[in-house]
Amino acid sequence: MNDNNLFRKEVLTLKRYVPGKPIEEVKKELGLEDIIKLASNENPLGPSKKAVEAIRKEAESINIYPDPAAANLREKLARRYDLNPQQIVIGNGGEEIIKFIAQTFINAGDEAIMANPSFGLYGTSVSHMGGKLVQIPLKNYKHDFETFVQKVNDKTKLIFVCNPNNPTGNIMTSEEIEYLFNNIPEDIVVVLDEAYYDYAIKNPKYPESLEILKKRPNTIILRTFSKVAGLAGVRTGYCLTSKEIANEMTKVKGVFNANRLAQVAALAALEDKEHIEKTVELNYEAMEIMEEYFEKNNLEYIKSNSNFVFVNVNMDSRIVFQKLLEKGVIIRPGYLWNWDNWLRVSTGTIEQTQRFIEALGELL
Ligand SMILES: *Cc1c(COP(=O)(O)O)cnc(C)c1O
Repeated sequence: MNDNNLFRKEVLTLKRYVPGKPIEEVKKELGLEDIIKLASNENPLGPSKKAVEAIRKEAESINIYPDPAAANLREKLARRYDLNPQQIVIGNGGEEIIKFIAQTFINAGDEAIMANPSFGLYGTSVSHMGGKLVQIPLKNYKHDFETFVQKVNDKTKLIFVCNPNNPTGNIMTSEEIEYLFNNIPEDIVVVLDEAYYDYAIKNPKYPESLEILKKRPNTIILRTFSKVAGLAGVRTGYCLTSKEIANEMTKVKGVFNANRLAQVAALAALEDKEHIEKTVELNYEAMEIMEEYFEKNNLEYIKSNSNFVFVNVNMDSRIVFQKLLEKGVIIRPGYLWNWDNWLRVSTGTIEQTQRFIEALGELL
């Protein structure tokens, strides 16, 4: 048997996800000590102290398997959103939910529509299942819903809407979302990826996706504790959908996919409104500092409603990435999305944000 037969054929051509460069790696490679990472949209204030305390307590019980249903967490989320717990699936991060979605719906040859550039894991998960990706270039930096609608056919199973979009950071408005929903069949499953929800709702034009779900069951709202809640390291995300979809997705998931520490940390984080509010407030302060700098220096950027911003630095992002790295600042270079002169930069603390601006200023 040659190697090409050994592996599932979709795996051989699968694209590897390129994550933000870990601080530990930069320390080792460049011998630097003082490094800031503005590359993965993490919470610069750290995790909720309540979540950390909950993890400490729970650590004593990690010899016991977690609750496979994550019942406490699902009940709490259900109460918050006025849903039935049976409409909620917990994932080992939102990324796992994206995999469950592809595994639940995609037969070989089925089509999934997404924007380009957008969150790469949609593509990987769909391709893994033998699905066909239909990637629609952004138009005026936004999801081009008119073309989305035109591309719908009998094979279309899924539509991914990354809102706010990663890497561009901007939102699709309620009006634009309404246009999409009004012009596609009911039996297409629409995934609204709201990983940056708490930042995005500061924009009054951000859609009320729960209202959409109430009217249209074939909708999946994806959220995560990795970003604003600062729990990226313990891995918890979830989706809100119809009972029917959640029931099928639950069959696909690993039995104990939500571990004990993640479950209690998420529960505690949900209680810590103050931590979320502080984080969102800091985000928009840091964002303003960056925007001011970009404007003063005539750098084109996309108006963001998330905790990162996409900016055109008019220089090869490979070079800028490396030069910033040497100054101890990790960002995400745009060439990864074929936007060669752009950078995606997360907001940091005020100090970190200013350090990024100074480092960039020295290059430009
Ligand atoms: C971060 C992110 C997610 C989920 O991340 P997890 O850490 O796996 O929860 C999902 N979608 C987008 C667009 C993201 O940026």
